[in-house]
Amino acid sequence: MLKEDRERPRRLDQLVASCGYCSRREARGWLRRAGVTVDGVPEISPDRHVLPSQVRIAGEPVDHPDGLVVMLHKVAGTVCTQADGEGETVYAVLPERWRRRNPALSAAGRLDKDASGLLLLTDQGDLIHEWTSPRRAAAKVYHVTLDRPVDPSWIPVFAGGTLSIGEDGRTCLPALLTVLGGHEAQLELHEGRFHQVKRMFAVLGALVIRLHRVRFGPFELGDLGPGQWRVVEPPWPR
Ligand code: URA
Repeated sequence: MLKEDRERPRRLDQLVASCGYCSRREARGWLRRAGVTVDGVPEISPDRHVLPSQVRIAGEPVDHPDGLVVMLHKVAGTVCTQADGEGETVYAVLPERWRRRNPALSAAGRLDKDASGLLLLTDQGDLIHEWTSPRRAAAKVYHVTLDRPVDPSWIPVFAGGTLSIGEDGRTCLPALLTVLGGHEAQLELHEGRFHQVKRMFAVLGALVIRLHRVRFGPFELGDLGPGQWRVVEPPWPR
């Protein structure tokens, strides 16, 4: 998305509602209370046309309405869905208003409930599509801890692209296994099948006890601590 597109003018009530600060219906009352300024001047009119970069809410820049990309360090025990029927969701650590964004924020390439590490969230469907497209074959790198020592003889098995993990007989693409010592290994995949890492090790007789993603396509977890998140400013890597 071009910067100029993101900066197109729009009504103030539309802007704050699409970012989830309030609903469009609530906007008039909300604007009276929220401390909104446009170019530094207080503004309460819902129908004022503004550029997002002109707007501050209680002194802070307004969230961007078209395009939010967030890197999150998911902690084990949280789920990647918005609904919390299945347990605490990853969204619990993010600003509450982001749950009401329109279009909604969703995860690109989910992690299991018991897995931790890098999760990408965005409201840009085309980016999710690109980052997870099989044609793109983006790298996903996991640190795993197994219930047994890592066997170096598995390296060519992963690299050979002959491991079959399902009833359909479909083999996995070649993957790069690095032995880190003891029960620890790193695995780089270029596809994202359901429970893939656990199922690949299960075929070899090993149980994954801990699964932690450190890289997803062009994004690295780096020094982002457990439960921490960071907004990624455009231009977004594709
Ligand atoms: N592979 C798995 O088994 N689980 C994940 O969460 C991700 C990859």
